[in-house]
Amino acid sequence: MDNVTIRIPEDAAKIIEKLERAGYEAYVVGGCVRDSLLGREPGDWDITTSASPQEVKALFPRTIDTGILHGTVTVMENHVGYEVTTYRVDGEYEDGRHPKSVTFTRELSEDLLRRDFTINAMAYNPKTGVVDLYDGIGDLQRGCIRCVGVPEERFSEDALRILRALRFASQLDFEIEEKTFAAMKKLAPRLAQVSAERVRVELVKLLGGKRPEMLITAYETGVTDVILQEWNAMITTSQDNPHHLYDVGRHTIVTIQALHRDPAYQAADAHDRMVLDMAMLLHDAGKPKCLTVEEDGRQHFRGHPIASAEIAKEVLRRLKFDNDTTALVTLLARWHDCRFSIKADMDFSKAMRRIMNKVGSENMRYLFPIMRADIEGQHPDYRERGLAKVARMEAEYEEILRKKQCVSVRDLAVGGRELIAAGYRPGPALGDALERLLQIVLDDPEANDAQTLTAYATQWLAEETK
Ligand code: ATP
Ligand code: MG
Repeated sequence: MDNVTIRIPEDAAKIIEKLERAGYEAYVVGGCVRDSLLGREPGDWDITTSASPQEVKALFPRTIDTGILHGTVTVMENHVGYEVTTYRVDGEYEDGRHPKSVTFTRELSEDLLRRDFTINAMAYNPKTGVVDLYDGIGDLQRGCIRCVGVPEERFSEDALRILRALRFASQLDFEIEEKTFAAMKKLAPRLAQVSAERVRVELVKLLGGKRPEMLITAYETGVTDVILQEWNAMITTSQDNPHHLYDVGRHTIVTIQALHRDPAYQAADAHDRMVLDMAMLLHDAGKPKCLTVEEDGRQHFRGHPIASAEIAKEVLRRLKFDNDTTALVTLLARWHDCRFSIKADMDFSKAMRRIMNKVGSENMRYLFPIMRADIEGQHPDYRERGLAKVARMEAEYEEILRKKQCVSVRDLAVGGRELIAAGYRPGPALGDALERLLQIVLDDPEANDAQTLTAYATQWLAEETK
């Protein structure tokens, strides 16, 4: 394909030219070629070259030894790093990010052969055009995920590729070729040997893709049996209840799809999207454990948000998410149902301040899209009412913020220092008093002035010492 031109960043082109002038070969390769041919914006531009890492380092003034043993040197150009990797033949993969051993080669064709899918095994440079030895372009046109070479061998070398196939199918809205699919089913148990970090990266990309329903395919191929058994429990738990249309797993997929259509999700950055996707995935994960059939003959899931939160924490820890993400996703699973705590006879803004106190003001913005998407996944008869309630909650939340009303001990007009001045001693009683003051202020924001609160606290102290 010499008639295709790919627009590559100027600095990447400069690196390629410099390598060529020194007598080596160099190409952009992999994901960036695939994405360019699809008209998608590439995430990063990887360069592959016949030069050895030492030869690359000798040529460029600013380099970082990113993965020197595996042939990768990062070349810095105008403060942007380009990963330049020597052509290589991979040995077997180990339980890590990289193969156990690599052998460098001077042949581009050998480097392309080690890559996972035909659509990821293309290289490009302005002189040669696209190098496509395995009909990657044909598979791009057909929308097809196909292994380079014999699928069973490729998945045996590195089982993560099984999950990557599902991830690309979701991201690109592609189908998985038959032999590739059969090999995935056969070798799925081998995913048990792959590190949690690598699994996490692919799972997050799968969920954030165009077809999160590939998670159902992950169940059918036996992939989630190894990496996410909690999902198997969800997909095999029906919901015989008038509020619901689907089993827990399919309901969850519908909610993730609805979440992706939500303007707040679309405006969010990659990190926040990941948080929302993981929270949506696990919001009902506790339902299988909480299932009861009651006198009305229907299935109920009382207490499931608490169970979901426990499961979310466990899953995110196991997949080695960072602590902040784990805490946030756990919190969102815990409170995804909070709209039911506002009953018709309640003062709406009081109830909303209590919710904000539990969830934390700064976390509320994640909760609204989660609640809306959850409603989209339920029976349509309840949709309009549910969405109206969430809209009212969001409006009330904005209002509470605008009025700077107090929703946490931190926002009280008095703190430990003032109570000590009023005669309290540092210790648990002081904490209890602040908590009691907060309860007063959550009900009556007007009460949040130092004089009023000190008067309450002084009175309690007097009562106690009576
Ligand atoms: P993304 O756009 O999400 O980064 P990508 O295709 O660039 O997708 P990377 O994980 O960044 O994926 O890998 C870059 C390239 O390296 C791939 O396109 C593929 O050619 C090759 N590759 C990555 N992981 C594997 C693997 N486990 N087995 C074989 N080849 C792989
Ligand atoms: Mg990449």
